[in-house]
Amino acid sequence: MSSRVIRRAALVGVAALTVLTVTSCGDSETEPKAKANVSASPRSDDKADEKKEKEEGAHWGYDGAGGPANWATLAEDFEACEEGKEQSPIDLDDDKAVDAPVNKAVTIDYKPVTAELVNNGHTIQANVSAGSKIVIDGTSYDLKQFHFHLPSEHTEDGEHADMELHFVHADKGGALAVVGVLMDDEDDAKSGGSAFADLFAKLPAEEGATEKITKAFDLTTFLPGDRDQYQYEGSLTTPPCAEGVKWTVLKEEVPVSEGEVAAYKELFPKSNRPTQPVNDREVSVVED
Ligand SMILES: [Zn+2]
Repeated sequence: MSSRVIRRAALVGVAALTVLTVTSCGDSETEPKAKANVSASPRSDDKADEKKEKEEGAHWGYDGAGGPANWATLAEDFEACEEGKEQSPIDLDDDKAVDAPVNKAVTIDYKPVTAELVNNGHTIQANVSAGSKIVIDGTSYDLKQFHFHLPSEHTEDGEHADMELHFVHADKGGALAVVGVLMDDEDDAKSGGSAFADLFAKLPAEEGATEKITKAFDLTTFLPGDRDQYQYEGSLTTPPCAEGVKWTVLKEEVPVSEGEVAAYKELFPKSNRPTQPVNDREVSVVED
């Protein structure tokens, strides 16, 4: 992978993480750029509007004209969604994965956090307080936010989990690393709800709405006890689909209650990009 690609993902990541309160259907990653263009060219003729619309990648979503098959046509910046060869998500297949030594496992070091929940029209994103991190091959990546998809984006042997949680981290240079956690509703989930009960009781329902969680909560309750994991090099799973993202997907699922899945589905009926070709990438698996 070229350093240019990594740098690009890094910049996109920083932009995405800086814009914390996106309220439109426009794409958070490209919004700062669109703004810069507006100030550089204050005219508001039709052509400028059209250009702005194209650069904002307005109205991308998960079905119809704005759906994943058309993302690359919505904005020039979204080319990687079609042209990229290292895209995410992918199907995870134990038989094809390569065993990696246990010291290659991502170390997860999460502290209690406060958060601001944002309904950005695509997901519920929780922008968290500083102090949590992961370490990959000696490099620290700080946790910036987490968010959800329904059903899961990654599949295991072709099977979706009910939902997927993405913890998004950035290193000092802005390069991104994401930890994916598969969430599955279990018959024996406690009637009081899962570890997600308190959070899911506060999901802001309206696009653009926010909700502050001022009482620190423990993110490790959202993780499985077992840290066996898949690792591979991929991309953002939303436009602009920038590559250079280090992916870790934990093998063990965490429980979520049926009611919680239904509550999330009420807000976002479908929010997964289909799996992408692995091409000549190596997927490794780290097991204890
Ligand atoms: Zn995601």
